[in-house]
Amino acid sequence: MKITVVGSVALDTIKTPFGKIDDALGGSATHFSTAASFFTPINLVGVVGSDFPSEHLDFLSSRNVDISGLEINPEGETFRWEGYYEFDLNTAHTLDTKLNVLSTFEPKIPHDFKNSECVFLANIDPDLQMQVLDQVFSPKLVVLDTMNFWIEHKKDELIQALRKVDIAVMNDAEARELCQTHSLLEASRKILTWGPKTVIIKKGEHGVLMFTENTHFAAPAFPLEDIADPTGAGDSFAGGFLGYLAKSSDLSEPNIRKAVVYGSVMASFNVEDFGLNRMKRLTQEEIEFRYSAFKEITGF
Ligand code: AMP
Repeated sequence: MKITVVGSVALDTIKTPFGKIDDALGGSATHFSTAASFFTPINLVGVVGSDFPSEHLDFLSSRNVDISGLEINPEGETFRWEGYYEFDLNTAHTLDTKLNVLSTFEPKIPHDFKNSECVFLANIDPDLQMQVLDQVFSPKLVVLDTMNFWIEHKKDELIQALRKVDIAVMNDAEARELCQTHSLLEASRKILTWGPKTVIIKKGEHGVLMFTENTHFAAPAFPLEDIADPTGAGDSFAGGFLGYLAKSSDLSEPNIRKAVVYGSVMASFNVEDFGLNRMKRLTQEEIEFRYSAFKEITGF
């Protein structure tokens, strides 16, 4: 199954205790597409400004990512996010969010993308997420991710969007904030009542929880000695998760559990270097090797 993704395509400025990068290629759709493209072709829908370096477009195209749905708005600048992490690399602190061309963006899904069986609504304005869903025909699987910025600015719209998706993915702090409860079990149950059949809660270095109406699955994060930059871990998780599901075309629960592990594998690679540097030199062999290692550390 081909995946259509809508989300941010960004220039990120990031500081961690281990270094800093300025205006690096980032964004939820970019991190997602890069990870998912190891499994299946991707259709990307988004917007950038006239300042967006053409080398980034070349990189995406080289990765099996169809960028014909990536609009270049000549009148504005690319979305920018600036953030930092302390030694607790689990929490991203936002210093600045400049929506720029995202603030007037109206996604137009190219005709060839409308039949996509799989849609990923990456972290972006929930109104835009819904506009995309209105334009695709009848996808078999719709997955949504979000973040605190949209929970704080567009909570009602986000809940509306959640009503239309099969799987909701968010991190623990976001689930707590959205549902106003400390308990992740209670938060997941609340999200399940809004529509999704599965809720996946990402807990950074503490792994992932998955809830359905009757089942509960937990996977650890892959233990790493060195983490350089956690930015994009959530989107890389979603990329590995959905990329594997789309490639296997099997939506049974045992296969969804496998997909959670592939998601965790892809996230673990992404954080080993700044921006997309690690993903740029990642190989299929390394992915399969780490997936096998994951089996070892979780079997008992
Ligand atoms: P994550 O996978 O959660 O670490 O997401 C990281 C990416 O989210 C960064 O590359 C940012 O460009 C992007 N981002 C940050 N804030 C927003 C926002 N409000 N809307 C969309 N994307 C964002």
